[in-house]
Amino acid sequence: MARLVPALQSAAGEAEVDMVFGVDKEGRAALSLHLTATVTLICQRCLEPMAYPIDTLRQLGVVGSETGAERLPEQYEPLLFAGEPMFLRDLIEDELILSLPLVPRHSDQRCAPAASESEEGTGDTDRSRANPFAILAELKNQ
Ligand SMILES: [Zn+2]
Repeated sequence: MARLVPALQSAAGEAEVDMVFGVDKEGRAALSLHLTATVTLICQRCLEPMAYPIDTLRQLGVVGSETGAERLPEQYEPLLFAGEPMFLRDLIEDELILSLPLVPRHSDQRCAPAASESEEGTGDTDRSRANPFAILAELKNQ
């Protein structure tokens, strides 16, 4: 999975996938995809590895065009099928990439102690909360 790996700290690990292919009541080809994996990301606060569990369930409705995608009932996400063979590995990789957090971060308690000390722990949150008001006060004084 060459597109996924650069986002990870390590390529180790496995993804478990459960797929059900079917046709719904309206005759639409649909795919239910349940994906579980634990990937290792780099925490953007302390730069240490963090395990990130993925557990995602998606209902994909097969469509042949953008217009078809717009007409899909709400519970589906569109899966564009233009007649070319489709590789399940690519689909799974797409879903894994979509499941990654934008900015990976440990929860506060789990972050490496060194990083929280350099940010002065909880004081940092207080400071950033106070900031907008400090800026307002400065504007008032000008
Ligand atoms: Zn961290």
